[in-house]
Amino acid sequence: MIDTTKMSETETLQPVEVLKQYYGYDRFRPMQEEIVRTLLEGRDTLVLMPTGGGKSVCFQVPALMKPGVCVVVSPLIALMKDQVEALLQNGIPAAYLNSTQSSREQRQIEQDCQAGRLKLLYVSPEKLLSESFFVFLNTLPISFFAVDEAHCISSWGHDFRPEYTQLALLKNHFPDVPVVALTATADKLTRQDIVTQLHLDDPAVFIASFNRPNLSLRVLPGLKRMQQIERFLAIQPDNSGIIYCQSRKSTEALAAKLQEKGYRAGFYHAGMSADDRARAQEEFVRDDIRIICATIAFGMGIDKSNVRWVIHYNMPKNLESFYQEIGRAGRDGSAAETLLFYSFADVANWKEMLSENAPVNLGLQMAKLERMQQYAEAHSCRRQILLSYFSEELADGCNNCDVCQNPRVMFDGTVLAQKALSALVRLKEQVPMNTLIDVLRGSRNQTILQNNYHLIKTYGAGSDLKFDEWRSYLQQLINIGVIEIAYDNHYFLRKGILADAVLFQNRKIELIKPEEAAQRKAEQKPKTKTESARDDLFERLRQLRKQLADEQNVPPYVIFTDSTLEEMSRLRPTTPEAFRNVSGVGDRKLQVFGKRFMQEIASFLTGQAREGTNLKGATHLMTFELYERGLTVHEMAQERNLSPSTIVMHLIYLSNNGYEVDLASLIDTAERLDIERALARVGVENNALKPVYDFLQGRYDYAKIRIVAALQGRIL
Ligand code: ADP
Ligand code: ZN
Repeated sequence: MIDTTKMSETETLQPVEVLKQYYGYDRFRPMQEEIVRTLLEGRDTLVLMPTGGGKSVCFQVPALMKPGVCVVVSPLIALMKDQVEALLQNGIPAAYLNSTQSSREQRQIEQDCQAGRLKLLYVSPEKLLSESFFVFLNTLPISFFAVDEAHCISSWGHDFRPEYTQLALLKNHFPDVPVVALTATADKLTRQDIVTQLHLDDPAVFIASFNRPNLSLRVLPGLKRMQQIERFLAIQPDNSGIIYCQSRKSTEALAAKLQEKGYRAGFYHAGMSADDRARAQEEFVRDDIRIICATIAFGMGIDKSNVRWVIHYNMPKNLESFYQEIGRAGRDGSAAETLLFYSFADVANWKEMLSENAPVNLGLQMAKLERMQQYAEAHSCRRQILLSYFSEELADGCNNCDVCQNPRVMFDGTVLAQKALSALVRLKEQVPMNTLIDVLRGSRNQTILQNNYHLIKTYGAGSDLKFDEWRSYLQQLINIGVIEIAYDNHYFLRKGILADAVLFQNRKIELIKPEEAAQRKAEQKPKTKTESARDDLFERLRQLRKQLADEQNVPPYVIFTDSTLEEMSRLRPTTPEAFRNVSGVGDRKLQVFGKRFMQEIASFLTGQAREGTNLKGATHLMTFELYERGLTVHEMAQERNLSPSTIVMHLIYLSNNGYEVDLASLIDTAERLDIERALARVGVENNALKPVYDFLQGRYDYAKIRIVAALQGRIL
């Protein structure tokens, strides 16, 4: 079963050594090590880190280092399963207990805990709080409690779970066992709630930066969304992503449209049966479907680290939701893209919905909606806006948002503003935006003709501009207060507070050129970014990962993350030492998966070598391929047009580097004994075999002598 002898060794290792041995990572991320040390000291701790920041390592490493078992409270079964699977893949003995298991299974796990065979035990809050379970816990040495997704304790938060509020019992029953609470939700009220409700004792509080530099940020006008999505997908080579939609119906409709176009897409929303939801989630997690069109019901409990992009089909109602949703991309730290479609209609919808529901804190909600809108309309670095919302400062532009990449071009838009306003006045402020644009552009559609709008003085005054250009300018004029939307009157446009100054005092207005050309440039950007790390080898490794994952019935990313595959395809390791150096390859993964992946890399390299590219380093692998096909040394030499002695050198190198090459089988016993006698008499210095060859008077060639010398460890 589980090897416990090894575990006691862990107690003498440094945290960073544990990280390397089990996870294959060379260094801790910011704050991780301090958190680990605080927990090792036994102090209560609160950890706030963004999604993908690396919270798990913070409690798993000390759990490995401390005697006893770490009891982890986790709100969702899917989440527990995933985490335990990932731990087991790294060779860390862990299990979960929940209602889906038979009582026999549960008993077995309890026994494993009592016998000290497990380092981490995941439980749901319901399970944890049952009386019998407390009795069981009393029989265990517990290293500490970890409360994951701790914000569930707070009724202020969005994922409130009543069971969580009873976790205070932990401190009452186990006053001496430290507790660590972890969450990605940062607001102060929730934070305070966690500390008081869990009865944390003078906790050390760690608040990591919420910046996720690997997520690119981009906003596009919400027009022709399907076309834009297709363009976006075209530059996302077979990567997984989520499209968040506002309504259940639209998730289904969009998925159907994507399927029609040949994409592997599914949908997910709270109106589906539990089975259907579980199936959709599973297919997505296993990379069987590539795109999931979902409402916000989708996401929590998904640890999938290789979500490479998130699109918001509609604008969320505040930046918290938005940030949490885009946070599901790029958890593995590799580049990931986010795209928000923005339209006034979405803003109007939210305003309507909020007003209808009239929550107690309507004013606050409206203010939050406004900040969301500011983000969408930003003409300065979007990441700065986002982070400032979470009370963090970013000194310089991020260079990974559409604004940083395409700085805005300003021009004097006073005349445009005057034209728009004067048309608006003549239309008696009784038309929506589209009609105003039609009037300005001199369109001859039914609405115009029926209402005689073509007779007003400013009709056609802006016919030199395209519809979308006017739309962009009007939106800007709304944002700066020259024009207003009458939300209470059919969304008609009316004069804003600056209108009279523009009309009568010649107040100067600066506008920004719409970004049609710039937009195209931005669209090409992600291509270079994500794809630079990807090549044919990456694709082959990804397929191998999928195959192994299916064989073992686990999600692909628990075998290796995308970033580990990227590094593998860059470093192309073909020896165990080199393979072990890839970030994300710990002891167990080297042992279990190393050979398969190295073989794939080797076969890729030999393929390239045959095509004449990149010969360097591949020659011994070409020999290995022939060896695996069962050729003799002489046949290999002939095939490769090399001397038998060189072939033998390759085989010795391979054997020394962990390849399965049986040197002894290359020579028969009588010959071997004969050569061994000669070696004993003459000896080998500095790998020189000539004295032995001479001593044997040419009866054996160098290849054979080399084999025996290698078998005896006399040469390198
Ligand atoms: P969170 O729970 O905070 O959302 P995870 O614990 O799932 O984040 O970590 C996100 C990803 O980052 C995982 O793939 C994890 O293995 C990886 N990771 C964590 N710590 C490190 C580290 N020190 N170096 C490299 N990768 C890390
Ligand atoms: Zn930026």
